[in-house]
Amino acid sequence: MHRATKIVATIGPASNTPEILLQMIQAGLDVVRLNFSHGTADDHRQRAEFVREAARQAGREVAIMADLQGPKIRVGKFENGKVTLVAGEPFILDADCELGNEQRAGLDYKDLPRDLKSGDVLLLNDGLIVLNVARVIGNEIHTIVKIGGELSNNKGINRQGGGLSAPALTAKDMEDIRTAMSLGVDYVAVSFPKNATDMEMARQLANIAGAPFGIKPKMIAKIERAEAIPALQGILDASDGIMVARGDLAVEVGNAAVPALQKRMIRMARESNKFVITATQMMESMIYAPVPTRAEVSDVANAVLDGTDAVMLSAESAAGKYPVQTIETMAAICIEAEKSEQSELDRDFLDRTFTRIDQSIAMGALFTAYHLGAKAIVALTESGSTALWMSRHWTHVPIFALTPRVGSERAMALYRNVTSLHLDTNTDRDTALQQALETVVSKGYASRGDMVVLTVGEPMGQAGGTNTLKIVRVGEPY
Ligand code: PGA
Ligand code: MN
Repeated sequence: MHRATKIVATIGPASNTPEILLQMIQAGLDVVRLNFSHGTADDHRQRAEFVREAARQAGREVAIMADLQGPKIRVGKFENGKVTLVAGEPFILDADCELGNEQRAGLDYKDLPRDLKSGDVLLLNDGLIVLNVARVIGNEIHTIVKIGGELSNNKGINRQGGGLSAPALTAKDMEDIRTAMSLGVDYVAVSFPKNATDMEMARQLANIAGAPFGIKPKMIAKIERAEAIPALQGILDASDGIMVARGDLAVEVGNAAVPALQKRMIRMARESNKFVITATQMMESMIYAPVPTRAEVSDVANAVLDGTDAVMLSAESAAGKYPVQTIETMAAICIEAEKSEQSELDRDFLDRTFTRIDQSIAMGALFTAYHLGAKAIVALTESGSTALWMSRHWTHVPIFALTPRVGSERAMALYRNVTSLHLDTNTDRDTALQQALETVVSKGYASRGDMVVLTVGEPMGQAGGTNTLKIVRVGEPY
């Protein structure tokens, strides 16, 4: 069954072997997320090797995303690993505290007391614990527990409404970027960017670290701070894609604001010709159970209907009991949701203007294929941008992007409705088109009598050179 929406899965202890990874890829995994909040450089290196090995066995490219930890503010460790906070009682966050106890906890971000004032609300452990700031005295934040509960080592801290000043890239992130580039990752996800400058800086660092390996990774901005919302267009312009990072975002802006923000982010990303991933708690109950809840099924389906390129798994695939089943289930939900007619070619399509030749060909191919009832669009592409443009509008016509560049092949793993395939060719345009068509037919994606829309650039081999549209019927004289 053809599935347009892509699946990103975080790997961790539950999915650390080549055998499980192979099963996950066969179940529909498109992009592996290495979470740099956990594990050492060696752990990530080992995981990346396992992924490449499993992908080789499965016979298809799987992309790798390095997700940087960013300036997530956390409490320190406790004498006994954890404490229980009681509503109404005082509790101190102390930048000078080494090891916490029932009265106080340490802080990894020593400047936090300077960002806070009396009346602020702090959310710990993804909002499960709430503290009201009573006053700040030197390096101590004195709070009253509003909602108590168990607080264990290194849990995250957010301020309601956002506004904490920690820079987006920490020293650890810069080191991790270098590690990630040495692993040959395809995407870098930046945590907690506030604005376009944070993304530009991250891209610059990644390009410098990637240069010795010939890599320019795609940059993903995780939208998870309140300040990123008003800055979204600038962040989009500075990034290749975004992640709707609902975990931290919900804590900062409030749970109830997230669904509408998700729809707005997905729409703005597509209109800006960027890709978008919807993340966090999509199949949360499958950490423990072999089936999802009705609400989770609806959540995944609604993200598909919103137009997301990809849906993402975190703990479900990294630490859950059912990593393979979760991907199978998610894939099935996507396929079913994509059948909906609600999501056909955007009505605003005809109002679009474009100035680039390659983009015009991409739009022309999409429009033609849709109205002609073509079976497939076959795009010969160097950078993958033709496929990206085509995939910013939804039709049921699958897009096959053939490229000689492995980097482009993997980069396109995230684009909705795009199947990327390898095609080595150094011949003339018509022979290359014929080879591309044969590749798609031999894989069973189109058969005799089907109408297929092809695009290519001439002269061949240049990025951004697509300038030709050709319509053929499979099996008829070419
Ligand atoms: P995280 O990011 O899993 O790295 O926290 C995603 C989110 O916050 O939703
Ligand atoms: Mn986050």
